[in-house]
Formats: sequence, structure tokens, C-alpha cells
Amino acid sequence: MERFQRFARTVLAHWNGGQGDQHDPERARSVYQSSTMGALIQGVYDGDVTVGELLKHGDFGLGTFNHLDGEMLVMDGVCYHLHADGSVEVASGDDRSPFAALTRFRTDISEKVSSPMTRQEVTALVDRLIRSANLIYAVKITGLFPTVTTRTVKEQKPPYPPLTEAAAGQAETTFTDVEGTLVGYRTPDYEQGISVAGYHLHFIDTSHTRGGHDLDFILDRGTIELAERSALQLALPTTEQFLSSDLTPANLESQIRQAEGG
Ligand code: ZN
Repeated sequence: MERFQRFARTVLAHWNGGQGDQHDPERARSVYQSSTMGALIQGVYDGDVTVGELLKHGDFGLGTFNHLDGEMLVMDGVCYHLHADGSVEVASGDDRSPFAALTRFRTDISEKVSSPMTRQEVTALVDRLIRSANLIYAVKITGLFPTVTTRTVKEQKPPYPPLTEAAAGQAETTFTDVEGTLVGYRTPDYEQGISVAGYHLHFIDTSHTRGGHDLDFILDRGTIELAERSALQLALPTTEQFLSSDLTPANLESQIRQAEGG
């Protein structure tokens, strides 16, 4: 028995080691992001990074797909493609993304929720749980939700409109009495434009058949898990559109708030 336990520990250690974390603490505390929110706001909807490449950098995160074709949610190493028509499929390794942020999720902070809370109350609770608003936190909220309101962006055709226009045509859905998981980040305010400052969460239900970009929710009961991240690896596209776009428009802040909501 003891030998088996030692064997099991060794296997587990190697399995984790295979992900490179123990031997590479830098990787374990970093978020890998491709492109910037500012680029997405400007209509840079085609990226050169594949889902397969993204998954080498993390097992948890969010983003979107080329042509702004729906929302991306990555959980437990699986990349889900949430389509505007409400359907969900597992993304192919060859699918490409113009914006995504992944990390290897390991829980640093965990908090049970046992009475109903609004989105505002949950995010205020997370604000109290973290030790600093100046670091990045991966946020995973699993539980029973009386309501979750999401939107899912629709596939766009070139010439691409800016995100505020594209998002105006988004499909909005409210799920009721649904079990599922919110996956995303709490990002420092100074990162606005690189990412979405504050909370950016995507939702998927337990059966992995419904979900979208979270706009609002009520959490009846569940668990909040947070992973503190102190490094950001930013991979920039070298596509023609990215290279030639003005990525610092004057009203970036208000455009992000309008496009991302929630
Ligand atoms: Zn989103």
C-alpha cells in the first residue's frame, strides 16, 4: 500500500511536471494573452494563434474566435466554442483566435457562498478576498444560478466594424435556475486596453451545452475560487490588420465599457 502511494505520488508529480509548472514557477504564475482588448475594440477580429497553441499555455481562460465568431471559454484544458445561435461545441485545435487569455488554474483562495448574492455582491466579495487589486486574479465561480444573463458576439464579415457596433447586434440570453461555472479574470484598472479592467467572465452550464459572455447573474450557492497571477505574457499578432490599426483611440475606456458590459 505504501509503495503504491509512493508510486501514485510520483506519477502525479510527473503528471504535473509534464505541464512544466514545478520546474518553471514563472509559467505557473503567469497569464498568457494573445493580442489586446484595444485591438479587438478596433475590429482586429483575425488572429494568427491557434487553439492548440493557446492550450499549451493554460487550461483555463476566455477569449473569442476569428471573425469574432462567438465566445471562447477554456476550463479543465478543454476549449469550448459558444456560438451566437446558442450552441456550444469543443473547439478544434486548428481554430484561430484574435484575443484570448489563458492560465494554469490552481486555487489559491476558496470561499463558499451559501446564500443568494448578486453579481455586484459577488464581485465585492472577491474584492475583499484578494490581497491586492494590483495583481491579476483568475476567477472561477461554480454553483447554482437563479439567473445568468449572457451575450454572444456574432460572426463578422470584413470590412470589420468596431466592437461597439458588432456587440450591438449580439444575441442576449437569460438562463434561469442553471448550474454551471463562470470562468474569467479580475484585472487591475491600469491594464485597461491590454485587457478588460475589472471583471471579465464567461459562463458555461454543467452539461456544457449553453453559455456566453456574462453580463449579469445571481448566485444562489456555490464556490468562488481564485488563482493569483503576477506575470503577464503578451503575444502580439503580426497580421496586416494588427500592424496597421490605430490601437490607442482617445475613447478606448468608454468603448470597452460599452462593448463588454457587465
Ligand atoms: Zn467576453
